Amino acid sequence: MSLSHVISISDACSLDWDVIVVGAGPAGCVAAHQLSLQKLRVLLIERKAFPRYKVCGCCLNQRAISSLQQIGLGTIVEDLDIVRLDSFQVRYSGREAIIPLPGGIAISRSVFDEKLVQAAIHAGSCFLPETTAMLRNYTEHDQARDVELTHQGELSGVVTAKIVLVADGLGHPSLQNCEGFKSVISENSRIGVGTLLAEDGSAEYPAGMIHMAINKNGYVGLVRVEDGRLNIAAAIDRDFIKKSVSPKESVIQILKDSGFPILPEISEGSFKGTIPITRNTLKPVGKHVFVLGDAAGYLEPFTGEGMANAISEAITVARIVPRALLKWDHQIEEEWLRKQHDISVGRLYWCRWLAQLLRSPRAVGLGLRLFHMFPGVARPIVTRLNR
Ligand SMILES: Cc1cc2nc3c(=O)[nH]c(=O)nc-3n(C[C@H](O)[C@H](O)[C@H](O)COP(=O)(O)OP(=O)(O)OC[C@H]3O[C@@H](n4cnc5c(N)ncnc54)[C@H](O)[C@@H]3O)c2cc1C
Repeated sequence: MSLSHVISISDACSLDWDVIVVGAGPAGCVAAHQLSLQKLRVLLIERKAFPRYKVCGCCLNQRAISSLQQIGLGTIVEDLDIVRLDSFQVRYSGREAIIPLPGGIAISRSVFDEKLVQAAIHAGSCFLPETTAMLRNYTEHDQARDVELTHQGELSGVVTAKIVLVADGLGHPSLQNCEGFKSVISENSRIGVGTLLAEDGSAEYPAGMIHMAINKNGYVGLVRVEDGRLNIAAAIDRDFIKKSVSPKESVIQILKDSGFPILPEISEGSFKGTIPITRNTLKPVGKHVFVLGDAAGYLEPFTGEGMANAISEAITVARIVPRALLKWDHQIEEEWLRKQHDISVGRLYWCRWLAQLLRSPRAVGLGLRLFHMFPGVARPIVTRLNR
């Protein structure tokens, strides 16, 4: 699969842009797609070469799929030979529960995100890969935002737009030089760890099911993606990773403790880590800048909310941007804060509750026994998170 219609840095610097979008994950791509459909001139900047690997559980829940269908991007997931998820197998200390899922699919982030970039390009966005974007600080006299472009470690140009969407993921690195976007990291935040294994030809970890290993130090999710490879993603306590020889060893320990098999490919796999994942940007908006997706805040992967939230926020911000282009004022900022809050507030209660439950070994043990005896008890929770 190859990406066409990418733009060079020199061309990008010579053109006028209505909107610059930083980051080509689900939030950035969907926002670029939606804005281009409104005939705005959109530049989508991504620091990595595509397709790229990203630490993620690779499970798109029903809400994310419905949102894609609503904006005409349902074929991205329907056209692929993807793996539909029908159940969730949880193991803790040798105890197991299997919970039915109301929908969802497993798809590798390299394939999914590249399809989203292609959709944005097809709608009219220009794509600038392998380029790190860094917003310059803003002065009251500025009517637009300047974004510095770095390629292979060298500052290679500056692009300007009336609006910048910051969708660059955890910790919003492109805002490092800007005041007013403070990010608060939760004290007990875990670290994300993940890998996509090479072909293993094993019958273990069957497709169509999310396999989840839990111990008191974190949890590990395993799922077969579209080509049958096993994706592994974990959220693990920082102290436990420090005590283990490596992030990989901490993953293996959690799998062993909960009673899952250790495939040889897992021991040989190369694992990547993230910065602490539970964090919140206090004010995800500032003059001519909207912050969305993980860049605005993230709770826990267990809840499976990440990509669904990123997509919902992208669709919502794209409805506000045309008015923000005409006039940036306090009301626009308030509207974005309110809408972003509305997207997450109902689910936040359940997510926080689940995240809390996972930190109590006794509660996990009791919960699993309950779900094992009465599988119907889990249904309203799973349905709620998927809606
Ligand atoms: C362990 C783990 C498991 C998870 N499992 C799931 C799951 O199963 N289901 C789910 O829905 N969610 C899951 N998530 C959450 C999900 O990965 C995120 O919520 C989702 O990727 C957020 O999308 P985004 O577009 O906001 O950011 P991202 O997907 O992180 O995309 C940001 C992009 O910006 C680019 N970028 C960064 N800095 C710059 C820069 N300065 N200039 C240009 N580009 C830049 C990055 O390279 C990246 O491509 C998981 C997360 C973790 C950590």
